[in-house]
Amino acid sequence: MDHLRIEKKLPRVAVFDFTGCEGCELQLANKEETLGAFLSAIDVVHFREVSSAEGDDYDVALVDGAISRPDEVERLKAIRQQAKVLVAMGSCACFGGVNRLKNAYDLQEANREVYGDCPKETMPTQAVKHFVAVDLEVPGCPVNKDEIERVVQHLVWDLPLCTFAYPVCLQCKQRFTVCRFDMGELCLGPITRAGCNAPCPAGGLGCWGCRGPAKNPNYQEFFALVKEKGFTERELHDRLGFFGGFEDLL
Ligand code: SF4
Ligand code: SF4
Ligand code: SF4
Repeated sequence: MDHLRIEKKLPRVAVFDFTGCEGCELQLANKEETLGAFLSAIDVVHFREVSSAEGDDYDVALVDGAISRPDEVERLKAIRQQAKVLVAMGSCACFGGVNRLKNAYDLQEANREVYGDCPKETMPTQAVKHFVAVDLEVPGCPVNKDEIERVVQHLVWDLPLCTFAYPVCLQCKQRFTVCRFDMGELCLGPITRAGCNAPCPAGGLGCWGCRGPAKNPNYQEFFALVKEKGFTERELHDRLGFFGGFEDLL
């Protein structure tokens, strides 16, 4: 007898890239131990980096990258119209990311200098949320694959989504890392949202705040600490402005 079979309808997920290095997309594809389970829970209809599928019928849009050209604005708006849920994935999409560094320059002049008589269309880099409604933001440069999986589980099976309220320092201490301040370096760990497992301090670098602010950060105490340790306002300003998550403070 033929098996009776009811077709399982998987949520259709599309991944789109804008201005960025596409490292966040790579994160989705490079964790082999969970990749099979992850891909079997969703129907990937568009994911240029790893698939030739180019479907335009999707429920969830994962958007990687910042917006830095007029044509990107139009494409993003069309994606928003189609998607039931739009997730900003990574610091570029959430805050503008490292691409924001170009905003410090006169873009017309830079365009002329680089492209001469063939200028390219450009505009100041901004986060996705400045152009369309964003349902969820998953910061990080790159995003943490575990976190993206939890987001997809939340969207697909309605599992509760817990986000990290505490700062990077807590995870840093759990790893018994020597504090970068004690090594004479600046670190944004006390005010930055955890979830990355503090790889930068463990690797010998202060945190650059790629995950944006923790919940209710104590800025006053942090600024006092930075001053006490002898760092200049300029140093702090440059660090806070690097990924864009602390834009409101600048
Ligand atoms: S957030 Fe970082 S890893 Fe992700 S696309 Fe931007 S630059 Fe690349
Ligand atoms: S190195 Fe940075 S993240 Fe780690 S404890 Fe010190 S201030 Fe916090
Ligand atoms: S330690 Fe800071 S800069 Fe490094 S990954 Fe974590 S939040 Fe990002």
